[in-house]
Amino acid sequence: MKTIEMFINILKNKDVDDLTYRVLVKGETEPPFTGKYYNHKEKGIYVCAGCGNPLFSWKNKFESNTGWPSFTKPVKEEHVSKEPDFSFGMVRTEVRCSKCGCHLGHVFDDGPEPTGKRYCINSAALDFKKAEDEEDK
Ligand code: FE
Repeated sequence: MKTIEMFINILKNKDVDDLTYRVLVKGETEPPFTGKYYNHKEKGIYVCAGCGNPLFSWKNKFESNTGWPSFTKPVKEEHVSKEPDFSFGMVRTEVRCSKCGCHLGHVFDDGPEPTGKRYCINSAALDFKKAEDEEDK
């Protein structure tokens, strides 16, 4: 994982809003049912709002009714990193962008088949790239 200084430098060079900064850098969680992607159904790829690393495909997005974008898996396992998070008296697994180290959300074991995983990701940590080639559709 990259250092905190590195991903803060990435963010300094981007025009990110306050919520995006608090989610990506400070690891905060956006309020449910407020983000731009929880109910978003277009075909394409969700990339890291900090560095553009491709993270999740629309193909693995599902309706979790939690108010956050939810996915069964990342586009590639090595594009995210996971670590234990013991904050707020809970035991959770934090998900970060493996390229810049920014906080994305958490992953839980109550997702649907085939993975059984639920990647619960902040909309504010993502940008969306509409599918251009057939492969992504
Ligand atoms: Fe990133």
